[in-house]
Amino acid sequence: MQHFAALTPADFFQQNVESQPNGFLCGKTVSVVNPAQTALSGMEQMPDYDQHEGVFFRADAESGCLFFAFIHNTNRGQAQGGTRFYSYNTMLDLLSDGLRLSKAMSEKCAVAGLWWGGGKSIICPVGFTVKDATPEKRKVIFANFGKFIASLHGAYVAAEDMNTTPEDMQTILSQNRFVTCIPKQTGGSGNPSPFTAEGVFKSMLATVAVMEGKSDLSGMRISIQGLGNVGGALARYVIQSGVTKLYITDLVQERMETIKSWAPEVVEILPSKESLLQQECDIFAPCAGGKVIDDQSIPLLRCRYIIGAANNQLERSEEHAAQLHQMGILYLPDFFINRMGIINCANEQYGWLESTLQEEVVKIYDDTVQLLQESRRRGISPQQMAMIQAAEALTRVHPIWPNRGKQLIQKAASER
Ligand code: NAD
Repeated sequence: MQHFAALTPADFFQQNVESQPNGFLCGKTVSVVNPAQTALSGMEQMPDYDQHEGVFFRADAESGCLFFAFIHNTNRGQAQGGTRFYSYNTMLDLLSDGLRLSKAMSEKCAVAGLWWGGGKSIICPVGFTVKDATPEKRKVIFANFGKFIASLHGAYVAAEDMNTTPEDMQTILSQNRFVTCIPKQTGGSGNPSPFTAEGVFKSMLATVAVMEGKSDLSGMRISIQGLGNVGGALARYVIQSGVTKLYITDLVQERMETIKSWAPEVVEILPSKESLLQQECDIFAPCAGGKVIDDQSIPLLRCRYIIGAANNQLERSEEHAAQLHQMGILYLPDFFINRMGIINCANEQYGWLESTLQEEVVKIYDDTVQLLQESRRRGISPQQMAMIQAAEALTRVHPIWPNRGKQLIQKAASER
């Protein structure tokens, strides 16, 4: 484990770019460990490793990026999940993020009833930052990443995620057919974020209905961290629902000013994440990065509910969910309520119908009501209840192709 912490993405890139640019790191279905990657063979000992079926990478000399694809579970179908374009300080951070996010995708697809498995991919720039990537450079990065995804033969299907756009997905599409969230003009569903925001908002409404018998958020105080694609759209919904106060924070001043201009008497800008966490409110909605709920933040919290879009909000999911439950803070599992984005994208493969999305928005409300009632009946937290539901759903294999994902992983691994 010391080894991981010491290694940077730049070190890893240099070690592999010449000798072994394409690699298969580990997986429960195949035991191919390339000698060039023995430094990482201990990944199976990482706490975030959960019997992942396959982890692939490419050190891409032309674009100067590391490409990673994490495949957690393909029982229900091809692994589906977003592509994150992001810099990491250490390989430990990168692998931990990929392992956690891909597992969360398995759970998310399973509780949503999708016939998809769970995966995630990462593009990590080496020697430059995401912001430095010009439109021309992005074309090279995403085209080469598309070739990498093609080499997995469909075991993993990409989608939009942090710092990626429908245009980037279109570039990936130029190299393979294993990508969703492509622009509407080429038959895709475009930006999924407004649907994700609507799903989170419906879960808020379901929660106040079950817990307080209310039909809207009137008279409540809400805090939102992160006012990007999802948080910005969520802010509009909660303002329209009659909140008395909306506390917001973001790293980008302009985004906060825009939202304040919508309802100056209701919206209050707070200077930092820490000040937002300590602000007394009814609902805290994390809509920025992951791991916002950790040992440091939990003692600061002064909210009654945590209902937000960010992936992997809990640093240590079971332990921190239990801690919140004991404190009387109701935490709605992120993978349960931020599913609308992936539903929007995943269903593209079957043709895109807006009516499907409307049905799913109703379903997320009903599912949240059922989750809260059932967890209350059993005396467990909604997180525990959702994990039980996900584990059950993950045992149900794809009705037509029960073993195909594992066969595809085997094929792709044997070619490395
Ligand atoms: P985004 O990049 O559009 O917005 C994120 C916002 O958070 C940005 O405005 C950024 O400045 C801000 N931010 C980052 N760090 C911050 C900090 N420490 N304090 C305050 N603000 C900070 O991303 P998004 O698409 O809106 O997604 C938000 C979260 O929801 C992410 O965790 C994402 O993985 C998750 N999610 C998104 C979707 C979707 O459909 N977009 C679906 C499921 C989950």
